[in-house]
Amino acid sequence: MHRSSYPISPRPTNFRVGAILLSRSDSDPTFAEDTILSTGYTMELAGNTHAEQCCLANFASVHGVADEDVGSALPATPRHSLVMYVTMEPCGKRLSGNTPCAARLAATRNAGRGIQKVYFGVKEPGTFVGESVGCAMLSEAGIEWEYVSGFEKEILEVAFAGHENPAREVEEALEGIRVEREKAEEKKEKRRRGIRKRE
Ligand SMILES: [Zn+2]
Repeated sequence: MHRSSYPISPRPTNFRVGAILLSRSDSDPTFAEDTILSTGYTMELAGNTHAEQCCLANFASVHGVADEDVGSALPATPRHSLVMYVTMEPCGKRLSGNTPCAARLAATRNAGRGIQKVYFGVKEPGTFVGESVGCAMLSEAGIEWEYVSGFEKEILEVAFAGHENPAREVEEALEGIRVEREKAEEKKEKRRRGIRKRE
């Protein structure tokens, strides 16, 4: 399959996201023995393709199976887990009949063990961590997920490159993340106080 070189031609409206699929030994806490199984990025493959979708499709293509059967080709190595890192939270909703990435990840669980954990560095804007449709889909499929904070700026700068005013978009998104984090903290604090009252 043809692979264009990174970076992809920026478009003013979409987010540029990257994904990587790894096999990880359960007895290696340093992750130094991780092996890369596949990678993908936004619009790497023809059409309005997402990073996770391309990552899985690339794996399927290398192993000679149809995209929807990628789960059957994924290794089920004893004492190893399949983990995916993606810069932005996997989408749970897509327009125009496209299968959302969270559903694609969930589908890998149907044959064999599939993907067991997903890490992401920027969550879906406007939702609290774990309250998005995407995360709900992952949890329902038995896929663990983890939001790794600290890389938001770098991720957003790449995601918005090629937009009309990327610097402003990054700033607004970071501000949005700050506000949501504060709200989440308030929520937690209220819950804490509520528990104390009942004690
Ligand atoms: Zn997606």
